[in-house]
Amino acid sequence: MQLPGGLIEGGKRQRQYRFQPVSGSLELALTETAALAASTPEAVTRILALALRELGGQPMSEERAASLCVADRQFLMRELERYLGFSGGWFHADCTACAARFDFHLDYAELPVQEAGAGYPWATVEHQGRTLRFRLPTGRDQEGLTRIPDDRARGWLLQRLACDPAPLDEVDGSLVDSVEAALERVAPAVVVQVQACCPECGANTAVDLDPYRVVRRQSDNLLAQVHRIALHYHWSEAEILGLPHSRRQRYLEMIDHSRGMVS
Ligand SMILES: [Zn+2]
Repeated sequence: MQLPGGLIEGGKRQRQYRFQPVSGSLELALTETAALAASTPEAVTRILALALRELGGQPMSEERAASLCVADRQFLMRELERYLGFSGGWFHADCTACAARFDFHLDYAELPVQEAGAGYPWATVEHQGRTLRFRLPTGRDQEGLTRIPDDRARGWLLQRLACDPAPLDEVDGSLVDSVEAALERVAPAVVVQVQACCPECGANTAVDLDPYRVVRRQSDNLLAQVHRIALHYHWSEAEILGLPHSRRQRYLEMIDHSRGMVS
């Protein structure tokens, strides 16, 4: 498994990663840690630190998860959603042309992933006769942005991303635009918006596709499953949460069979 960007450590670009084995304990820890986070970027950092077994052959940590570029974090969160058993499904859309509400099917495996460009994670910009160097934003930058007022956000971020020279003497609007364009050329990307075709009128509507859906997972369904298995087999909560995801699903099927709910 390989990141589209990668974490730069000691001059090396680390791209190989592996998730932890999925058990109920991990699923519960993911929902509980997400609920305690102050913001979505902080929740993503905590979730990735828990869910990844290793990155570049080294154990994962919140520090390393926060240092990943934004697209790598989006990529990992969507891969994690697939790994936890959701590989796509039916989504809703409201047609912008005729206002009809319709459903469309999406398979995550079919969504393209754009690899990082040459120079990743840095980009250079020529500005007033000088060459300036910037890096791509990370999860830590996103966490910081949640504490900055919107009208100051772009300038604040640009100062943080400036590597050489840093800090910048002055930041103007045209520099912000050229830096954003330069960074976009080296940034990896995952799909965060799709075009859905309306079955009523045939028009296309842009639909946002949240890469961070795992952040909003609830523990209710998992706890209900633990409850059903505990009632039937009288195992402890820790024993049931320790089961791999697939085995927990098998036991639930067997309980349904034994109750005659499935033919
Ligand atoms: Zn329509």
